Amino acid sequence: MMNTTHAAMGVALATPLAFAAPELAPTAALAGFAGGAFPDLDLLGGQHRRTLHFPVYYSVAAIPAGVLAALFPTAATVAAAFFLLSAGLHCVADAAGGGLELRPWEATDDRGVYVHPKGAWVPPRRWIRYDGAPEDLLLAGVLSLPGLLVFDGAVRALTVVGLLVSVVYVAVRKRLPEVETRYLR
Ligand SMILES: [Zn+2]
Repeated sequence: MMNTTHAAMGVALATPLAFAAPELAPTAALAGFAGGAFPDLDLLGGQHRRTLHFPVYYSVAAIPAGVLAALFPTAATVAAAFFLLSAGLHCVADAAGGGLELRPWEATDDRGVYVHPKGAWVPPRRWIRYDGAPEDLLLAGVLSLPGLLVFDGAVRALTVVGLLVSVVYVAVRKRLPEVETRYLR
């Protein structure tokens, strides 16, 4: 799944707050966006989908963080809860996508996401065949609706940027391995 899909998913998580606690909703949405984007920073170093991907630890940590935010709803507690929730969801959702191969549409790799307590990789389900697939763009579009319609300001602006990046990424996705092989390896 694209990083932008995960980020939009994080914003979508904050939608109920727009009605339940509107003063905290933008903070929750921005934290959800950041938490959705964060795990993929391990593309820059370490091992992708392992170094900063913690499907279990983020999700478990989100429970006390969520309780704390419900009992003491401040910008800090709500941001922490939504960041962790979104990061956890990102890592779980990665297992629904493709593998780690250079051309994930060839479906030759069996690593979806690394589960640290298990010490093993969970295989990719390929419900979204690969990051940047047409169905990934569709999912990103649907998940962007709250960011566009429920929120405004910075959240809406980030959502628009995310969608534009997604469209470009999907358009060039199948040419990226060639670029990567030629210039980066
Ligand atoms: Zn990821």
